[in-house]
Amino acid sequence: MALGANLGDPQATILKAMNDLALTEGVSLIKCSSLYRTAPVDSSGPDYVNAVVEVRTVLTAPALLAQLQALEQTGGRQRPFRNAPRTLDLDLLTFGEARIQSEPLTIPHPRMGARAFVLVPLAEIAPQVVTAAQLQAVRTQHISRLGKRLGAAGKR
Ligand code: ADP
Ligand code: MG
Repeated sequence: MALGANLGDPQATILKAMNDLALTEGVSLIKCSSLYRTAPVDSSGPDYVNAVVEVRTVLTAPALLAQLQALEQTGGRQRPFRNAPRTLDLDLLTFGEARIQSEPLTIPHPRMGARAFVLVPLAEIAPQVVTAAQLQAVRTQHISRLGKRLGAAGKR
């Protein structure tokens, strides 16, 4: 799952979202990447803070997406226009081996392979799923690691 924020205090927003995920019924946080600072891609406004987490869940993919959207709302997100700057964006990257193409949900996320802000933190927590060629392809996108990640993730 990918997390991004670029308004308000994005770093605090991402850390809070990780905490909220850990506290979500039916969701266990397994791994959190470091936080990264990235320049906006297909969006505007200040730099983003991005991270990727791995969760285990008993929820279905649509139910998990609904939870993420509820957390985005709590994070104060508004949608004045497509790809507008946002306080919090939560995207499902993969869901086990599932392939889903439905109206509200596409899995794997169609744009994940083209975005350094997904691939670099993903390579940190799951190096086996990101290829060197993929990282090479996004090497011109600016991304810098913001120091250490949270300690052991809260597990329930
Ligand atoms: P993006 O994340 O691409 O910048 P949004 O967060 O505004 O854009 O997402 C718009 C819509 O994308 C959501 O309403 C959601 O239904 C849909 N969507 C499709 N696939 C996914 C996915 N894998 N993860 C999250 N949202 C998805
Ligand atoms: Mg999104």
